[in-house]
Amino acid sequence: MTKRRSSNPTKNQTVKACEQQELINHLNRIINIQDRLNEPNLKVNDFIQIAAEQLQQLTHATGTLIETLEAEDKLRYRGGTGHLEKWVGQSCDKNDSISGLCISTHQIIRADDVENDPRINPQECRQLQARSLVVVPFFYESHIAGVIKVISNNLNAFSDIDLQTIRVIAGLVGDAIARLKNIGQLKVLSKEKTHALDDLRKTEKKLKHVARHDYLTGLPNRNMFNEQLTIALAKAKRKKQLIALMYLDIDQFKDINDTMGHAYGDKLLTAFANRLKQCLRASDIAARFGGDEFILLLDDLKEVQDAIVIANKILQAMRQPFTLNSKPASVTTSIGIAFLRDSDISLDDFIRQADQALYVSKNSGRNTFYIYDNDLVMEQTQVRE
Ligand code: GH3
Ligand code: MG
Repeated sequence: MTKRRSSNPTKNQTVKACEQQELINHLNRIINIQDRLNEPNLKVNDFIQIAAEQLQQLTHATGTLIETLEAEDKLRYRGGTGHLEKWVGQSCDKNDSISGLCISTHQIIRADDVENDPRINPQECRQLQARSLVVVPFFYESHIAGVIKVISNNLNAFSDIDLQTIRVIAGLVGDAIARLKNIGQLKVLSKEKTHALDDLRKTEKKLKHVARHDYLTGLPNRNMFNEQLTIALAKAKRKKQLIALMYLDIDQFKDINDTMGHAYGDKLLTAFANRLKQCLRASDIAARFGGDEFILLLDDLKEVQDAIVIANKILQAMRQPFTLNSKPASVTTSIGIAFLRDSDISLDDFIRQADQALYVSKNSGRNTFYIYDNDLVMEQTQVRE
């Protein structure tokens, strides 16, 4: 992958770049959580647990809890991570607790040093192992539905961006609870309606930086890939170079999620991306297009055979089992390839050709590649193992 280098950034520039990256990561993950909320077979408890896990990673918390109000005085721990995960499924009395205070006041509670915060009961903090915390309420319709509690064993652990992130995710959890309670149709969170998301968007505009990388794998995302493909197409036309697009989709990836869990699936996507990079030349570009789909741009090929060699190398590499969390998993992948043969082709049509070839690979049993040919005939030039 070609790297852009700036000359000797100052410390301030470096800090700004970190903040930009942090914000972009937050936004990408939030969008990903929001997408899951739109899945037709949403299981609310799974969604809440995913929200808790993502919050822990995003805010670098040591533990998170998502609590719902079950009766007037009772709270139930529905999702949790870190040392608090063991409490999931249990109930507690809301009175005299920090959650109860958040519920009765409808206010966000942020304590950067819990031991010197008169609102907080020291015994509760010892149980939570908290030095700092944020508690944010969530609502369905106009009813309070529960709280999200994010905890750290460090002082001053949470930034303003963390707070905005927790508020946005609280809004999404409220939407999920509304679905659980069958209160009308699920309303997709409107960016304009949520103050917290507004804040994030404003910051994003200020930074004048578009999210261009996939949060999970660190690869370029679809936007960045399209930019690079546009440049590559223009260059290939000008210099009469041969370029190839490879569209990959992991085979039966849903089975991995179903049998090993989503977190394992996430790890596998990252390991898959790393393995993919190892199969490529330095000048090739790999991007995650979304879900279990990846796309590659192979620049300046000498001949069609060069791409075929790489496709075979990828198929071979992916057939080797992955070992993640000490547990093995095997996947294969299917590939569709398109070559730039018509210099007037648009970016969308070029991608569509690779996608059509991928479709044929899937339909012919997976774990193979097909090439989109000039006459719309697909040819496969390797033997499946
Ligand atoms: P096929 O062989 O036809 O490709 O079958 P498949 O099971 O791989 O199905 P498909 O490619 O259509 O769906 C990919 C699945 O990937 C759907 C979704 O549940 C899952 N997925 C999407 N994004 C993520 C993610 O970020 N993490 C995890 N763990 N799973 C994801
Ligand atoms: Mg798939």
